[in-house]
Amino acid sequence: MTEGTGAGGGTGGGKGFNPEQKMQFLFHLRQKGVINTRVLTAMERVDRGIFVRGHFAARAYEDMPLPIGSGQTISQPSIVGLMTQALDVQPRDTVLEIGTGSGYQAAILSHLARRVYTIDRHRNLTREAEIVFTKLGLVNITVLTRDGSFGLPDQGPFDRILVTAAAEDPPGPLLQQLKVGGVMVVPVGQSDTVQSLIKVTRSEAGFDYEEFMPVRFVPLIEGIARE
Ligand code: SAH
Repeated sequence: MTEGTGAGGGTGGGKGFNPEQKMQFLFHLRQKGVINTRVLTAMERVDRGIFVRGHFAARAYEDMPLPIGSGQTISQPSIVGLMTQALDVQPRDTVLEIGTGSGYQAAILSHLARRVYTIDRHRNLTREAEIVFTKLGLVNITVLTRDGSFGLPDQGPFDRILVTAAAEDPPGPLLQQLKVGGVMVVPVGQSDTVQSLIKVTRSEAGFDYEEFMPVRFVPLIEGIARE
């Protein structure tokens, strides 16, 4: 069921990301506090309908998380927007994302950064995301099946790191792979409770932590999934 569910697929009857839906989608994002023009433009360019499959595809433009298989979810668009905005991605940045999931967040990052590495522990998800990135011509994304808690020491250090699964603490290896001047955004807290989104900024002097909103993410789990 991977083939044929890509661009335009699954939404049924040519619904797609039409201009009116786009306008409503962007209006809602702005209302939720996503005001950065680069972030809004990137989100306008990426059709969330392509990343949501089956009968949930009809709800792709609503502001809610949706199931994507392997027991995981595609995040709520307003949260994606606010996290991306907090990450403050610059055009020359190399970004690491932990938790590829559907690939939606990585696709948005690919329009904002020079290069994106995205990792997931579920091979099914990385495989499907890679097919979609190829279809969309997003050639600056590298997808890998790994335990993301260890980051990618060979490719780092990174300008920006975005973790889209909740950890009890920001993982040490990820902090180490953040450049001086770099930013990491990570949900922190127990998986079944409300977590806090934390923005970590690395300076010469060390790490600065800023808590900026309550969120609810699936947990960051150790090891590669056996599917
Ligand atoms: N960013 C995604 C949503 C992420 S859901 C999107 O845009 O759709 C969280 C993802 O984190 C899940 O796909 C889950 O498999 C992944 N995950 C959890 N623990 C992980 C780990 N240790 N390493 C890599 N990925 C992990």
